[in-house]
Amino acid sequence: MKRLIILCDGMADYPVKSLGGRTPLMAARTPNMDRLAREGASGLFNTIPADLPAGSEVANLSVMGYDPRENFCQRGVLEAASLGVELSDSQLALRCNLIWAKDSKIASHSGGDLSHEAGAEIIRLLNDKLGGNGIRFYQGVHYRHLLVIDGGDSHIECRPPHDYIGKEIAALKVTARGERGEKTAGIINKLIADSAAVLAALPLNREKAAPGEKRPTLIWPWAAGEKPRMKTIKELTGLDGAVITAVDLIKGLGIYAGMKVIEVEGATGNSHTNYEGKAAAALEALKKYDYVYLHVEAADEASHDGDLALKIKVIEDLDSRLVAAILKGVEEAKTDIRIALLPDHPTPVETRIHVKDPVPVVLWGSGVTADAVLEYNEAEAGKGGLGLMDQKAFFNNFFGKNRS
Ligand SMILES: [Zn+2]
Repeated sequence: MKRLIILCDGMADYPVKSLGGRTPLMAARTPNMDRLAREGASGLFNTIPADLPAGSEVANLSVMGYDPRENFCQRGVLEAASLGVELSDSQLALRCNLIWAKDSKIASHSGGDLSHEAGAEIIRLLNDKLGGNGIRFYQGVHYRHLLVIDGGDSHIECRPPHDYIGKEIAALKVTARGERGEKTAGIINKLIADSAAVLAALPLNREKAAPGEKRPTLIWPWAAGEKPRMKTIKELTGLDGAVITAVDLIKGLGIYAGMKVIEVEGATGNSHTNYEGKAAAALEALKKYDYVYLHVEAADEASHDGDLALKIKVIEDLDSRLVAAILKGVEEAKTDIRIALLPDHPTPVETRIHVKDPVPVVLWGSGVTADAVLEYNEAEAGKGGLGLMDQKAFFNNFFGKNRS
């Protein structure tokens, strides 16, 4: 039997007043998702344990098949994997933002969407002036880069810059969690301080900026972590897996999980994504792999932008352009398959941030017995035959076996 997860990032929501108390999922026209609910079994899934952050890295780890408490890894190492940077056991990786600092405060967590060439020049300069002695910067995308420290220790607390916009930088120093982290905290604080002069010398920072124009004036490393020691999906489930996503974080998870990462042309991570291309890639991947993890970011982006109309449109596109195409494909090919459709976490469009509430799940296909639920949404899923699942229960229902 083949297995497919259709992961619609941030799709679940809370009731919205302007929708008469319905959620975007309830308000959107979703005949194909509703068909899955009608013919399949529904439930709720607690993807994020209470003591872990409400992040996509935690929630997707859960859905993919891992106990997030045992396998939680920081964004830095996941993005390192996605950039093709192989870490040794003694290296520490951190996401390194280029931020905009102004009047000794964080003005933005982003120094702007830099071109590839501008980013390459900045990373070359940072390595030239601040690198060496086990410190190296790697280029990522726009303002999102990577810092690797040989022998760095993860017993440190860094402040995610998006959580501290408008705050005094002097109060946001990296701190050590115990003696072990002291040296590393000191190294990072010095790098941040020294980066101000390095970046001030950039031609683009010497030009006069329009008011409110973001520019890269400081580095800001955060999300420090060491290479995870995860079992592969093959070891965990016995299945060969593939991941389809536009998001670096999910690509990184797939790489550490030993899954094939499949790139789709026109997959953007937003509402302009190539839904048809992703559906076609999933159907193609199912011919070769027994387990395919199809991740679509668009609903989460619409939620972060607080755009209710766009969120509803994204959900309707997911239904009519992605789910419909997949159902048509597997039925035409008479594929023996079990499909799970779910978000990783809710991202309520009114509050714009991830929350930990359980997400609605529907299982459909081979070996799944239909329950009485007729529609796919947050409220109906709670009445389904699968009940409220933790990570282990979801794993057992989806893979049909106990996680070792
Ligand atoms: Zn997410």
